[in-house]
Amino acid sequence: SSRQDREGFGDTRVGDIGMTILVTGAAGFIGMHVADRLMEQGHAVVGIDNLNDYYPVALKRARLDLLRERHGRLFTFHELDFADMGAVQAALTDQVIEAIVHLGAQAGVRYSLINPHAYVRSNLAGHVNMLELARDRHVRHLVYASSSSVYGGNESLPFRVEDRVDHPVSLYAATKRADELMSETYAHLFRIPMTGLRFFTVYGPWGRPDMAMWIFTSKILAGEPIPVFNHGRMQRDFTYIDDIVEGIIGCLDHPPADDGALKAGGSRAPHRLYNIGNNRPEELMHLIAVLEEAIGRKAQLDFQPMQPGDVHATYADISAIARDIGFSPSTAIEIGVPRFVQWYRRYNDLD
Ligand code: NAD
Repeated sequence: SSRQDREGFGDTRVGDIGMTILVTGAAGFIGMHVADRLMEQGHAVVGIDNLNDYYPVALKRARLDLLRERHGRLFTFHELDFADMGAVQAALTDQVIEAIVHLGAQAGVRYSLINPHAYVRSNLAGHVNMLELARDRHVRHLVYASSSSVYGGNESLPFRVEDRVDHPVSLYAATKRADELMSETYAHLFRIPMTGLRFFTVYGPWGRPDMAMWIFTSKILAGEPIPVFNHGRMQRDFTYIDDIVEGIIGCLDHPPADDGALKAGGSRAPHRLYNIGNNRPEELMHLIAVLEEAIGRKAQLDFQPMQPGDVHATYADISAIARDIGFSPSTAIEIGVPRFVQWYRRYNDLD
């Protein structure tokens, strides 16, 4: 009824209170935080996730428990594989869906050299399924996760959304680039507003055990050597989870207009791509120093060569998203890393 009331006022802004939003990968790191914030804002969230064991499932279950505890009936969850369209349709037949935040994917650069088919299934077949769902439901907006990895071996820094991205150096990156292209096509053909977000190394509480921040923290605490690739001469634009969530929800609230106009150099489709990063690349060795300070212990370093699929540096130009939605990341690693470490100690019962 609230939806009808709103439509009676002719207000179709996506940020309306009381929308029902599908969040894929809701048991994942970013998905959990986005779902949490959307429900804080009064939206209902339908979460889907297959709880796969790429990293410990207990962590995914703990994230879901937190969402259920905090939001009760605003949160609905379906455990399913979104690469299986029959399963998606069976679960969502009678479910209203007004917008989609598609964050579920097989993540990780290095693992894509080990299990390529997991990426093809979740990131290609699964992505098309979410495009089909958006088409079927005529959603107001589909916001989906891409990655800074699409910039591959590009050498000119910072990375700008207008840069050519023809050289993915991992299968993960190639699938994310393909997602952008398929989204462009669907937005064009079916006039569905879409926004693709290229995230830059996200970290924070409830983060991912396969990522450097978590691995370094656990090994420093255990007194074990940490593997430091490329002699620590890599740079990453580490982006704090709260800034990412603000960017995602800010974008969700502002779907690209479908004016059908062909702007110079622009796109015909109501589809936009943005970088969301901290706009401040950090040397790996500096991250380690900040971690040592936050943990109160020195790290033992195990220097190793550059890994296949890795890139030397990432650095987000965020002028487009700053201009369009006022995005402005506010968390330096000196602030965000201690918050992660504090959460990590509590989660692992180390306090
Ligand atoms: P995550 O692995 O914690 O979350 C992804 C979730 O998707 C997982 O819970 C997983 O179980 C679920 N999933 C995977 N395949 C599925 C399928 N076929 N059906 C249903 N559920 C499935 O990762 P994250 O860090 O939260 O990443 C969210 C998104 O952001 C992903 O698309 C990822 O590629 C992208 N991204 C993340 C980062 C980062 O630094 N964390 C950087 C760039 C891009």
